[in-house]
Amino acid sequence: MARLVVVSNRVSMPKTGVRPGGLAVALGETLEHSGGVWFGWSGDIADGPVPPPRRITRDGITYITTDLTRQDYEEFYNGFSNSTLWPLFHYRLGLLEVSRRSYEGYLRVNAAFAAALAPTIRPGDIVWVHDYHLIPLGAELRRQGVGNRMGFFLHTPFPVPEILVALPGHRRLAQALCAYDLVGFQTADDVRAFLGYITGEAGGRAGPDGDFVAFGRRARAGAYPIGIDAQAFAGLAADMAEAPDTRRLKASLRGRRLILGVERLDYSKGLPQRFDAVERLIEAHPDLCERFEFMQIAAPSREDVARYRVLRRQVEAAAGRINGRFAEFDWQPVRYINKCCDRAVLAGFYRSACVGLVTPLRDGMNLVAKEYVAAQDPDDPGALVLSRFAGAAQELTAALMVNPYDIGEMAEAVARALAMPRDERVERWRAMWRAVATNTVEYWRDSYLAGLTALSRIPP
Ligand code: UDP
Repeated sequence: MARLVVVSNRVSMPKTGVRPGGLAVALGETLEHSGGVWFGWSGDIADGPVPPPRRITRDGITYITTDLTRQDYEEFYNGFSNSTLWPLFHYRLGLLEVSRRSYEGYLRVNAAFAAALAPTIRPGDIVWVHDYHLIPLGAELRRQGVGNRMGFFLHTPFPVPEILVALPGHRRLAQALCAYDLVGFQTADDVRAFLGYITGEAGGRAGPDGDFVAFGRRARAGAYPIGIDAQAFAGLAADMAEAPDTRRLKASLRGRRLILGVERLDYSKGLPQRFDAVERLIEAHPDLCERFEFMQIAAPSREDVARYRVLRRQVEAAAGRINGRFAEFDWQPVRYINKCCDRAVLAGFYRSACVGLVTPLRDGMNLVAKEYVAAQDPDDPGALVLSRFAGAAQELTAALMVNPYDIGEMAEAVARALAMPRDERVERWRAMWRAVATNTVEYWRDSYLAGLTALSRIPP
């Protein structure tokens, strides 16, 4: 097996006492097996010039992390990555910020990462670059003479050409993607959108199996839906069913049914619409009053970006409004928690929830939907209400599917989920569990890497 070099914006460093997420475990396992390097940003911002990258080696994996300058952080991370590409890739042109300075910062950091990484890449290594922060990294490595097999995986959606062309410099971005040998996306829709750009805008050609030729290069695009470590998460949830936090949650509900939402506080997740749907549910079904509670866990995210602070105020206002309108002295419909919750605790909470409410306006995959399914009691599972615009909707077709822009439809779907008979819940859950237990994170990793290694040698 070839040595693997993984590059991602943040590196999951081995830490004692911290339970890593599925992606970190899956990539870590492969790296341990093949030997290899994991390279990326340390998460630190240097006060002055950036010190040389730090290296530590554990269990055969060399972790190389580098700091960013304050300017890099503003321009590369908060700027082009999170204020330009993130809204663009989530179809939010109204939130798109375009700035030459942030674009230059994006290119500068990618070039600096490539310069720091290139000397550690050996002939025969396979390089796997992750996510929208690092699209130009492959082209920069190629410029530095790296001819290795190189793959890229986009964790977010990829927008249709009509949206992508709103970005000044969209051509250079698409050209940069073509520096990789295999461009992986979450869903077949994303692959279609990318190939639509290649053939419709870039003057390229696309063949069967996602093969394409553009910008003088031949490469392949494919859909590799990411998953979770389903069995491990199901086991964790079963273990956590009687854990102290889960018991406290259940006791606090006093027999009321729990509707649960869990995410980072991000505008792609459709939280204001979801709160509106809960409000509509109470208006339309007053009989449900005091029979449920909606708990929204919204982990703080990207608080240095102004739009995220606006969202936080919106969501706080919605929670306050609904509770102010409908709460009784001994019941309130909404519990809003603006804190990051430990995954193990979450597993117990998912299992306690009669309804999982996952309604992003647009999402690459949405692992929360899969975790909710994995966490259920197979004999008495909850019901999942899922946005059709989550990548997970392609696999979890047995969920109650909703359009998150349609507040009335979401409210009725929640009412239906609350009333769903056990037989129907079990039947739907079994179909979803099959998908979650088959398309695991290990399967995703192995099929992507098999796809990358199996490509016949691609001429430049
Ligand atoms: N998560 C968590 N604590 C929280 C909120 C979320 O550990 O308070 C985890 C959640 O269990 C899931 C991940 O964060 O594994 C979110 O992944 P998802 O694909 O749903 O959304 P993303 O944040 O990547 O957009």
